[in-house]
Amino acid sequence: MNQFGHIAIPAVQGLSPYQPGKPESELERELGIADIVKLASNENPWGPSPAAIEAVKAGLSNLSRYPDGSRHDLKKGLAEKLSVTPQRITLGNGSSEVLEIIARVFLGPGREAVFSEYAFAMYPIFTQAAGAKARIAKAGGADSPMPYGHDLDAMAALINEKTRVVFIANPNNPTGTYVPATSLYRFIESLPGHVVCVVDEAYFEYVEKDDFPDAPGWINRFPNLIVTRTFSKAYGIAGLRVGYAISDPEISELMNRIRQPFNINAMALQAALAALEDQEHLGKSHRSNLSGLAFLSHAFRERSLEVIPSIANFVCVDVKRDSVQLFNGLLREGIIIRPLANYQMPNHIRVTVGTPDQNSRFLAAFDNVMSRV
Ligand SMILES: *Cc1c(COP(=O)(O)O)cnc(C)c1O
Repeated sequence: MNQFGHIAIPAVQGLSPYQPGKPESELERELGIADIVKLASNENPWGPSPAAIEAVKAGLSNLSRYPDGSRHDLKKGLAEKLSVTPQRITLGNGSSEVLEIIARVFLGPGREAVFSEYAFAMYPIFTQAAGAKARIAKAGGADSPMPYGHDLDAMAALINEKTRVVFIANPNNPTGTYVPATSLYRFIESLPGHVVCVVDEAYFEYVEKDDFPDAPGWINRFPNLIVTRTFSKAYGIAGLRVGYAISDPEISELMNRIRQPFNINAMALQAALAALEDQEHLGKSHRSNLSGLAFLSHAFRERSLEVIPSIANFVCVDVKRDSVQLFNGLLREGIIIRPLANYQMPNHIRVTVGTPDQNSRFLAAFDNVMSRV
């Protein structure tokens, strides 16, 4: 165990790996039961557009070929949808890879990244792996307009001459909170020129809020702004791994210098394009999520539990007890959710909005387990 740790680079020596949601197949093996409900990784419970599945099947006939390294079709499709030029789009193997590429381009020893407490767990990993220092701002307190949400003033106070990247998850995972347009605009406007602002919009397609920013529309005005989005959440193809950034063309060019030439596989490229074109499926997923989110939030409040208001496809709730015990109890009922101890929220769980059926099954199991733990 101690043979190689000391020869790894210092940045890697101090890292703890990301903890993914428990896969259904693992729980099936452990319990020997089928019919498991996984509400642990914010995936689309309806799956992808049928057209995306067809695209994967069609791609099977061409597996011996390298994918299109220029990713012409998907970039063109995204560029049209977003009304930007294709030069502003950078594709990644999930938006996680895009975030990692950003860290590798702009961070390194002697540099700093700023992000919020309770923000997405990959920011500290990418920052540290790049050899940079993480500066973590306190989240909004109980009396702030957005408890547990990003406090942009606290974040601004951590910016100095070493800062190169600010990560803002909007909406944020695991809290479901968001930064409204006016405050985000003012924050980006106040940033010094040597800092890039990454606005991670992994849940954008689920949002329904009049004061939510149109961040991609601001890139002309703020060339140091990078917006990232993904096909993993509302588009339902997390297993294929496709995400993208929208940025100034000079930033895309820098990111393209270090990405692997074929970082998106051929089937994923085709499936993402098919998913993008099926806006009807996306709309259905969006509407189903809104009612499921309202249902779960209401159910928790009815049980006198404090819910953090969410605009994404999950809800974060204070269960007023050690959430790992609750998590384990739910596993025995065939339900997988996310305890948030590794986010320093030991009494909170995060539950992904499922289908109406899954939400009801979750709730029945939740009541059962809550009466015991
Ligand atoms: C899920 C998630 C991502 C990344 O997902 P990918 O599958 O890598 O695209 C990025 N940011 C946040 C906040 C997320 O929750």
